[in-house]
Amino acid sequence: MYDFEFYNPTRLLFGRSSLEQLDTLVPNDARVLLLYGGQSAKRNGTLAQVSQVLDQRICAEFGGISPNPDYHQLLQAVEQIRQQKLDFILAIGGGSIIDAGKFIAAAVPYQGEPWEILETDGRHIDQALPLGTVLTLPATGSEMNNCAVISNSALGLKRSFRHPSVFPRFSVLAPQLSFSLPQPQIANGVVDAFVHVTEQYLTYPVDAKVQDRFAEGLLLTLIEEGPKALAEPENYRVRANIMFSATMALNGLIGAGVPQDWSTHKLGHELTVRHGLDHAVTLAILLPAMLRLRKAAKHAKLLQYAERVWQLSDGSEEQRIDAAIELTRQFFESMGIKTHLSDYGIGHEAIAPLLENLERQGLTQLGEDGRVDLELSRQVFQASL
Ligand code: NAP
Ligand code: FE
Repeated sequence: MYDFEFYNPTRLLFGRSSLEQLDTLVPNDARVLLLYGGQSAKRNGTLAQVSQVLDQRICAEFGGISPNPDYHQLLQAVEQIRQQKLDFILAIGGGSIIDAGKFIAAAVPYQGEPWEILETDGRHIDQALPLGTVLTLPATGSEMNNCAVISNSALGLKRSFRHPSVFPRFSVLAPQLSFSLPQPQIANGVVDAFVHVTEQYLTYPVDAKVQDRFAEGLLLTLIEEGPKALAEPENYRVRANIMFSATMALNGLIGAGVPQDWSTHKLGHELTVRHGLDHAVTLAILLPAMLRLRKAAKHAKLLQYAERVWQLSDGSEEQRIDAAIELTRQFFESMGIKTHLSDYGIGHEAIAPLLENLERQGLTQLGEDGRVDLELSRQVFQASL
């Protein structure tokens, strides 16, 4: 195991009645900006419930944040906070809204052009407004980490930053708030969380038994509960297990002291920026191809994955690994997500521009060992057609 520091200050409030605790979590004298997305928080009543609990506070609203939140839209929220002298952000939604909250929290006190935050991976941030979250879509783990992903439609870029000051102070995880998710978003959440785990688990072995077994537990839970969430959308126990899995998948725990990959995510961001595919859809398309092409480098962990997650013990090592990758792809399909670019009308001609964009950003040495270069990225896109 590598040396590591594990720091996670986010307080989790988990359960059916966790939303009521907002009253003690948000300071009485806070001037709050309620941040939310298109329609869902209004339609399913979450916004009304939050407003009711906070009715003694000064609350302003900024709604309409789009999935894959766009830099230019978020600048308007920064302006609103500065003008109205607000001092607390409550993000109500999925990863897009929480990431938006982190960026806005860092941008308000930032001296200079806020885009620099994303160009420098947050290195020049020295403070951020306090942020709390009410999670409505289990997927990204953003509710308990210090990372945010922001798009810039004008530049055709999707960038991330991280900084300790943007860890949410608290996150309310009330699984029933996810009942209203449409089936594709349930599937997206399960697949995104699944691939967060594989990016930290399917690398090379460093004898990190605790991290490995936590990771395997999360994968097994997602495989078991994911299809049940589609079949029984109001099953609280199923939603609770999925929600906690997604949070634990990317809160730093399973990634502590182990190599991390993230090449599937980086290539996936290009597909979202250029072709508008949902984040999780890009991962479901790319991961099977990535694993097949990286079989040699990831041999030992893929074999462990085949045995411990898919209970495969027959056949040669190569056959077990191939079967595990194919079962992974079938799992994504069973969640209702198609796993080939051609399923989305994307053909061979799309590959060159995707590679150009990777090169332009210097994303030419990806993966836990830096070996996912442009040629390997091309092969992954090609094999995903
Ligand atoms: P999302 O973009 O936040 O939300 C997707 C859709 O789900 C929205 O259209 C939203 O509708 C709807 N929705 C949310 N909650 C709902 C509910 N309870 N009922 C019905 N509809 C609901 O999805 P996400 O997958 O959580 O976030 C994706 C973003 O996170 C991407 O930009 C990705 O790159 C980023 N990400 C961040 C991290 C991180 O560590 N920070 C990790 C991975 C990915 P409304 O707009 O109407 O509300
Ligand atoms: Fe993700």
